[in-house]
Amino acid sequence: MSDCIFCKISQGQFGTSFLYEDEEIVVFRDINPKAKTHLLIVPKKHIDSVMTLEESDELLMGKLVMAGKKVAADLKLDGYKLQIHVGESGGQEVFHVHVHLLSNQG
Ligand code: 5GP
Ligand code: ZN
Repeated sequence: MSDCIFCKISQGQFGTSFLYEDEEIVVFRDINPKAKTHLLIVPKKHIDSVMTLEESDELLMGKLVMAGKKVAADLKLDGYKLQIHVGESGGQEVFHVHVHLLSNQG
């Protein structure tokens, strides 16, 4: 997806600083934070939305939650929300699947 902003960010094209990175996932701060800590947990693989997930994406989606858990522990957050917006009417603006991590701590 050459015109996808999260593909470009996850490939390092903008020099975004990552709180976490592995072969499959990056975590970075939301540009327009809606909480004191607002992170985006993003797979490097382009998937439009939860609506277009395939069976083979099941493990990857679990890894997004595990990456959020790890970064939250690194930041010493003792509570947070994990949110996924699905589809335009579900509030999704960027059509590259991602999990929001929101906390009033951090
Ligand atoms: P969605 O509503 O699609 O779940 O959330 C997309 C999120 O991505 C929004 O909270 C928005 O602020 C964030 N966002 C959009 N473009 C950029 C960007 O270029 N950089 C970063 N760091 N966040 C972005
Ligand atoms: Zn993408």
